[in-house]
Amino acid sequence: MRFLKKDSKEKHIPQRSCAVCRVKNDKENLIRLVKSPDGRIFIDTEKKLPGRGVYICSDLECLERAKKSGIISHSLKAEVNNDFWLELEEYIKKSGSEKSVNLKIKSVLGLARKAGALLIGSERIENEIEKSGHKKILVILAENSSEGVKKFAASHEKILLDMTIKELSEVTGLRDSVQILALPLNSGFAKRIISLINKDTERSNAVER
Ligand SMILES: [Zn+2]
Repeated sequence: MRFLKKDSKEKHIPQRSCAVCRVKNDKENLIRLVKSPDGRIFIDTEKKLPGRGVYICSDLECLERAKKSGIISHSLKAEVNNDFWLELEEYIKKSGSEKSVNLKIKSVLGLARKAGALLIGSERIENEIEKSGHKKILVILAENSSEGVKKFAASHEKILLDMTIKELSEVTGLRDSVQILALPLNSGFAKRIISLINKDTERSNAVER
């Protein structure tokens, strides 16, 4: 009984509806738009700001419909100008490319795990370094990994992912929370991940320019 209760609590994910298509989705997959006290509309990236807000799908189709329908300015009782639409479009495109890079990284990590190349957790990584006598590994960290883990990673070639501990744990298929992974630096898996991240960085720089 107690276990069941705990389980159902853990699986509770807040849901919201898109103001445009009305489809329900996990709050974390939607974009929240909020009106500031001075009447300006902006993207509430942390989805925590007080004030009147609406949710919209992170997709260009709902964006186009929002522009035509005037639904955002109607629900927020505020003017939406063209600069804001452009900003929202860039934001949707950027989060789309981040998502697809994350999916690719996850699939590489999954393959590495199946191949037995993935080192999971700082203890395992430390053992491997000791055993092999060299430090040529690529350390991969969750975005919310602890300060201790970040310190451990500091002396290695490392990548901080846009993925949470929860997401990283799912990749490894373990129930425990996984904050840190590593791959041999000269492995194809590590090279693939480095190239995915580099490509993504180039693209987001291009968007900002
Ligand atoms: Zn929608």
